[in-house]
Amino acid sequence: MTVSLQRSTKIVATLGPASGNPERMRELVAAGVDVVRINFSHGTADDHRQRVDALRAAAHTAGRTVGVMADLQGPKIRIGKFASGPVRIKADQEFVLDASCPLGDNGRVGLDYPDLVKDVQAGDVLLLDDGRTVFDVLRIQGTEILCRNRHDGELSNNKGINKQGGGLTAPALTAKDIEDIRTAASLGIDYVAVSFPKSGDDMRLARALLQAAGSNALLVAKIERVEAIENLNNILEATDGVMVARGDLAVEVGDAAVPALQKRIIRAARDFNKFSITATQMMESMIHSPVPTRAEVSDVANAVLDGTDAVMLSAETATGDYPIQSVEAMVRICVEAEKSSDFPLDTHFLNRVFTRIDQSIAMAALFAAHHLKVKAIASLTESGSTALWMSRVNTGIPIYALTQEVRTRYKVSIFKGVFPLMLPQSGHDRDRILFDAEEALIAAGAVAIGDLIVLTIGEPIGKSGGTNTMKIVKVGEHRSNH
Ligand code: PEP
Repeated sequence: MTVSLQRSTKIVATLGPASGNPERMRELVAAGVDVVRINFSHGTADDHRQRVDALRAAAHTAGRTVGVMADLQGPKIRIGKFASGPVRIKADQEFVLDASCPLGDNGRVGLDYPDLVKDVQAGDVLLLDDGRTVFDVLRIQGTEILCRNRHDGELSNNKGINKQGGGLTAPALTAKDIEDIRTAASLGIDYVAVSFPKSGDDMRLARALLQAAGSNALLVAKIERVEAIENLNNILEATDGVMVARGDLAVEVGDAAVPALQKRIIRAARDFNKFSITATQMMESMIHSPVPTRAEVSDVANAVLDGTDAVMLSAETATGDYPIQSVEAMVRICVEAEKSSDFPLDTHFLNRVFTRIDQSIAMAALFAAHHLKVKAIASLTESGSTALWMSRVNTGIPIYALTQEVRTRYKVSIFKGVFPLMLPQSGHDRDRILFDAEEALIAAGAVAIGDLIVLTIGEPIGKSGGTNTMKIVKVGEHRSNH
């Protein structure tokens, strides 16, 4: 297995009709995708199972570790269906949202969330279809929300509704999400993304449900509600990672507020030792174009410079005409952005706060690796935590997570600058394991004989959370002993 040495930032690609078949998955893997996202808003458990199986097979054939993320639908509030297709609504026209309306027309439409009527009042602004339609709420009458439409436009079936400024009371996990968590666990999924969480409690509930279903998947909190911004630290304490879900976030907080929030969320995630994904419309024009716009190139590069762990493709790979080219373009942009002198190296991590022994070894390894200018850091890890902590500090030195645990190899595949490698089964003989680790690094093309590396390991061997040793090694010195 050869690992790509050039790119630290990871790429998440959403599967869909344009990329869901085995041939396309092989191409996505070859193009450099690190994690695939399965949108649980669409498809059945059986569809998801087929995709996971095909993806795992494609990655195995290519000798790559590719993680799988289940993205739960969450309480996306939607209008119902129209009796005869899309309707045109004029500016200043009054329009009724009414949960008891079975099929809509150009004066009213149903709702899939009857409680919306309790969550809004006169003066509120409702944004439909990602803000393309703006309704000012005039008054509430029984089950009806009477609105005035701001601009001429079209409305079609099942478009989403957001309330400007937040304040919707729908719980983050719906009955469908709870069922989908069980499906995700049964499919051995590596990451579960929770849509519209408002607090750490939403994440704790998702974790309890996952664990009850027998899964230790990593949790991703999608930051897309005003309340999630207000409770960011509380959410970060309870989650493993966050997604800057710019689509819904922009509707709730206003699009202009998103770029600064993106920087804040990514920085906060790193401070809490959590990972971050920057998502939505990164290469939107590539849904129909083989090349990105200049603005999209800048957007992806700026997310890299903000320090995101991963950049994500949505419709570009799910339904677009150029899924593979979208990944290739993202790879190219990440590689170039990482070469920039503005991709900041953290040389001032002396004041990071930690009290655990394993975390202290991780930081000591970084310090030594940085000053000795080693070729690589190798973390022999059970859980992947050491690699995560080290990757929160950008030293520009690749971190190899060597483990026998296949689940851990999948999990670390989203961490910036961390490359999973398989450590062959070799019992509890420490010297043998160190020898095998070096051989795995050489075979992957990560290091050559004579290179200096920093290794972290736990003694006794094989205990999770037991990293307590750092070793500085010249690659090949072990060979004379074996
Ligand atoms: C978003 O809103 O930006 C997002 C990633 O969520 P979804 O794709 O589920 O709308």
